[in-house]
Amino acid sequence: MENSSENNTLISDIREQILFMQELGVDSLAVELSDRPWSISSADSDNLIVDSAQQATPVPFEKAPPPTDLGLPKRTTEAPKRGGSRIASMPSLRSRTPAQVSDMPKSISAKTVEEPVLLDVSPTLAETTDTIQSIRAEIGNCTRCKLSQLGRKQIVHTTGNFQADLMFVGEAPGADEDEQGFPFVGRAGKLLTDIIVAMGFQREQVCIGNINRCRPPDNRKPEPDETAACRPFILREVAVIKPKVIVVLGATAAHNLLQVSTPISKLRGNFQDYFGVKVMPTFHPAYLLRDPHKKKDVWEDMKKVRDFLNTE
Ligand code: SF4
Repeated sequence: MENSSENNTLISDIREQILFMQELGVDSLAVELSDRPWSISSADSDNLIVDSAQQATPVPFEKAPPPTDLGLPKRTTEAPKRGGSRIASMPSLRSRTPAQVSDMPKSISAKTVEEPVLLDVSPTLAETTDTIQSIRAEIGNCTRCKLSQLGRKQIVHTTGNFQADLMFVGEAPGADEDEQGFPFVGRAGKLLTDIIVAMGFQREQVCIGNINRCRPPDNRKPEPDETAACRPFILREVAVIKPKVIVVLGATAAHNLLQVSTPISKLRGNFQDYFGVKVMPTFHPAYLLRDPHKKKDVWEDMKKVRDFLNTE
């Protein structure tokens, strides 16, 4: 009797579970009992007769009538509301602009102040297996652009300290550089050396290069196809040197390094970013020779660079 009572309870529980599954829309069920040491076989079990020899046989349900009040506790098939979880209902902070953040209630915006630090994924210079020597070897007797056919005497490579914190990048070699094979060695180069010394460095302590390594004829501006061909080499050198600051000299160099077209008069004086490296655009020394009044502006820019490096 006691067994029969337990069976009835068990069968009642199973009925309840089946009814619930019907409510959920389940219309067949595979039951695996082959590894059970027992079988259910009882007159009380009505239609629910499962033989232990059965191997995962689907047991069809009768099509359920529309759910009625069966006297069972009400169940719901609705997914739990997101509002039930504070975390799930929190507004996403990741995609908010600073303006949107400032519009948020204080309790949220205060939290977001910390978020940009955690989510700061601004790109940094890629790790590289390049060396200055391997880059130069790859450049070789370069003919990748037409400047190689337009009267260059030699390729003018980046020179100086390849572990420097400070790097200067200009546009292209001029006549003196083409003659001597070093960047910034003419009158403009002498002025650049004076600027470097005024900042408290020796020229040998810094690194100096150009976007283009061959002299354009008549000192014209390098053309887009020429800078496109040569620019990758200076960028690879930057990845090797990893300077803390790059001073870009003149509009052409600034535009090619930063890939912007903002006039140099607007760019200069404000640190820009190149993959985590501070970039200070300023006027080219050759321009200062033509307009000495601009020296004051350049000096203001160089003081910012010097002060930044002194605090690093
Ligand atoms: S400017 Fe650069 S890309 Fe063009 S020929 Fe000279 S080294 Fe090669």
